[in-house]
Amino acid sequence: MRDSYLVFGQPLIEQAEIDEVVGSMQAAWLGTGPKAAEFERRVAAYKGVPHAVGLNSCTAGLHLACVVLGLEPGDEIITTPMTFCASINAIIHAGATPVLADVDPVTMNIDPEAVRRAITPRTKAILPVHFAGRSCAMDELMAIAKQHDLKVIEDCAHAIETEYHGQKAGTIGDLGVLSFYSTKNIVTGEGGMVLTRDAELAQRTKMMGLHGMSSDAWKRFSDDGYRHYDVEEIGFKYNMMDLQAAIGMHQIDRVEAYWQRRQVIWNRYLEAFANMPLQTPATWPDNERHALHLFTLLVNEADAGISRDNMLIALHKQNIGTGVHYRAIPDLKVYRERCGWRSEDYPNAKMIGDRTLSLPLSPKLTDQDVEDVIAAVANAVDC
Ligand SMILES: *Cc1c(COP(=O)(O)O)cnc(C)c1O
Repeated sequence: MRDSYLVFGQPLIEQAEIDEVVGSMQAAWLGTGPKAAEFERRVAAYKGVPHAVGLNSCTAGLHLACVVLGLEPGDEIITTPMTFCASINAIIHAGATPVLADVDPVTMNIDPEAVRRAITPRTKAILPVHFAGRSCAMDELMAIAKQHDLKVIEDCAHAIETEYHGQKAGTIGDLGVLSFYSTKNIVTGEGGMVLTRDAELAQRTKMMGLHGMSSDAWKRFSDDGYRHYDVEEIGFKYNMMDLQAAIGMHQIDRVEAYWQRRQVIWNRYLEAFANMPLQTPATWPDNERHALHLFTLLVNEADAGISRDNMLIALHKQNIGTGVHYRAIPDLKVYRERCGWRSEDYPNAKMIGDRTLSLPLSPKLTDQDVEDVIAAVANAVDC
């Protein structure tokens, strides 16, 4: 057994980020400034989208997306029960009502047919999540949106590298939102970004993310002299710091190299688990690109001889950190109580939520770390 604990989702931080952060500290410019702008430019170039607005989290970005698209109390937004709580909370914070549509059991993404069934006269938007980095069925979802005049907000927290039929995830709907949280494919510690093709939405996202102040208010303390600003709307405080962008602007330059490293790990896992009584992630069509964010095993106790929860414990005891992405949203207390959801009504999300377990997949893993994970899993299922 390995002697040190393998922490789940540890990012790879390299010297360029460390030097850049130190540079920001030495220049004593910590808040939003030129590095945030540079990081936005690099991400926009990578995604091939004209506008990117850096924020302090993806959660903030999802909230702002609802706000700038004009979603308000009484409006319903259809989303997935197989996501992080932030996707749901952002909708509720905007005053709108989340409505769940079950996932496809194979892709684990929101099922367009379930979306159709969930539409009411109050439906105003769809918030699909590209789960684990696999693209949602965007042709079908965009067709539904067009037919019913709905906005589309893509939760791309797992999906910076994801592509669908030649289009990049986050650039297909009205707005796409990235996360740079510490466990995501590229990191800034905490951080997020809103992507859009629409200049006006970008400008409004920026303004509403900085108190509702007139544009570029952060420049008011710069060396071109004091400038008055105006406050145009009641906004939020969601801007990205240069300290965060200092990390991100180098991470984005390595996004493809990290993806390639995760692909090697992914393929090694597939090979190693092929003969074990565990379900590995489904394959995807050639005209999609998977971001390879989460390698999820489905542990069915009847086959594996061990429950998912006991497998979490067995791996932990062997010094392997894992994750659960996710328990089905309706199984979480506040949503049961406040939204009245019951997981029986979303059987595919429930099945996944009860069986899923995510293995370490960071580019920081060494080949030996990967072999340690495989050996620990084999041991847990007696293979
Ligand atoms: C991580 C995550 C978020 C929230 O991202 P933050 O940057 O931590 O706010 C939202 N949605 C999904 C699917 C996530 O995995």
